[in-house]
Amino acid sequence: MKLILLAASLLLLTLFTPAPQPTQAVADIVFKNGNIYTANDRAPKAEAIAVKGDRIIFVGSNAGAQKLVIPKTRVVDLKGNTVLPGFTDSHQHLSGVGQREMTLNLEGTTSLQDFLAKVKARVDQAKAGEWVTGRGWIETHWQPPVFPTRWDLDKIAPNNPVILGRADGHGSVTNSAALKLAGVDKDTPNPFGGEISKDKQSGEPNGMLLDAAQGLVRRRVPPTSAEDAERAVVLGVKRDIALGWTQIQDAGGSYADVNIFKKLYEAGTIKLRIYKAVYGPGPNAARLLNEGPIIGAYENRFNVRTIKVVSDGALGSRGAALLAPYSDAPDTSGFLTVKAEELRPMLVDALRKGIQVETHAIGDRANRFILDEYEAAFKAVPAAERKIVEPRWRVEHAQIVNPADIPRFAQLGVIPSMQPSHAIGDLFFAPSRLGMERLVGAYAWESFIKSGVVVPGGSDAPVERGEPMIEFYAAVARKDQKGFSGEGWHPEEAVTREQAL
Ligand SMILES: [Zn+2]
Repeated sequence: MKLILLAASLLLLTLFTPAPQPTQAVADIVFKNGNIYTANDRAPKAEAIAVKGDRIIFVGSNAGAQKLVIPKTRVVDLKGNTVLPGFTDSHQHLSGVGQREMTLNLEGTTSLQDFLAKVKARVDQAKAGEWVTGRGWIETHWQPPVFPTRWDLDKIAPNNPVILGRADGHGSVTNSAALKLAGVDKDTPNPFGGEISKDKQSGEPNGMLLDAAQGLVRRRVPPTSAEDAERAVVLGVKRDIALGWTQIQDAGGSYADVNIFKKLYEAGTIKLRIYKAVYGPGPNAARLLNEGPIIGAYENRFNVRTIKVVSDGALGSRGAALLAPYSDAPDTSGFLTVKAEELRPMLVDALRKGIQVETHAIGDRANRFILDEYEAAFKAVPAAERKIVEPRWRVEHAQIVNPADIPRFAQLGVIPSMQPSHAIGDLFFAPSRLGMERLVGAYAWESFIKSGVVVPGGSDAPVERGEPMIEFYAAVARKDQKGFSGEGWHPEEAVTREQAL
């Protein structure tokens, strides 16, 4: 938002020479002596910013800003410090960020032993039979890098049901007590869009549940209380603001979240800008299509105008839908998690009613599938019948895209919304999952930019840590935080600092 405002004011200033006016504009606040990056190519640097109300009214020289100062104006000396446009996290799960702070946070566990020690400490505090839940583990750097099992957990949690989400949210490990409560055994069929991982020898569930299969156990966990749901949002907002985000785009959820946000905005408890989606197809999307969007509520802080669709799983847990089998698991090529016959009528309706659609697509098959579906909807509802002619529909992640499909985004006007940190987290397993050849269209930021689309950057927190500086670094360096990137990691897909900004 601030980025756009800055650009708009600069454009005005270059076009018009200010003429003397009877009622001269005055500023409430002036920031001077700054090292200001505007992200506007026509005037990339500036010294001063002037603000009136909730708008930037001037960006330029100290002398120019001084003309807007009256005795009442607050003048802030930036003493040469750097100022950047407000950062927007284009893909985040706000409640999840807060919940990660509240429940057992397993981020940064270095080994299976470390993981089990952290879980044991929590289990030891729990009452008999009480659920133990947590999130954030990832086995990538464990030796060996394999998923934990129910039998690992049973050793430290024989009586309490346990479910612990992998950082990507597309897999969870559960123990025997949890599986028993959920009635999951060797005969339970895989639900649509999910997989109950089985031990190769015995055929027994090994505790790993992928995508939709997580619901078999998750729905047995007592629901979060209303107070806790609210506390999670407040904690998430607090963390985001502390890290420097000025807006986050909440990639999914329900009207229950919408109501919590409204309540907190009304009370003045949260000030972060939130651009919210709700899940579809289903009741939440139906409600958005019926009631229409919320735009610019609470002094331009809150929007609900987007439906989030999930079309496949994730690469780490081999749920991403690929066109050809996984290089390290030739018996699977992942799975789609949405049915075309349920999606199509919703897409058509959304175009007619001016609702944005954003779809999670990680594998090259999911990306092709959703581009085909969007294209069919655009054909079915020509521009004249749309409420918004350029609907700005998005593909979330666009992670592994067949090179033949990359130009289709620009042709269709579809936005690839990508997360730089995924490329520096996934570089440890993507080459083995995909093989060298498929890495050509993987995390292909620069190819997308060259094809003529704008690529919004996001963190996908709590899947990743959710810090703007990590995202910025990942986009520019395309290496992990220690400076490592392996063979075939296509350094030419890194972007410049200006592009990242
Ligand atoms: Zn996400």
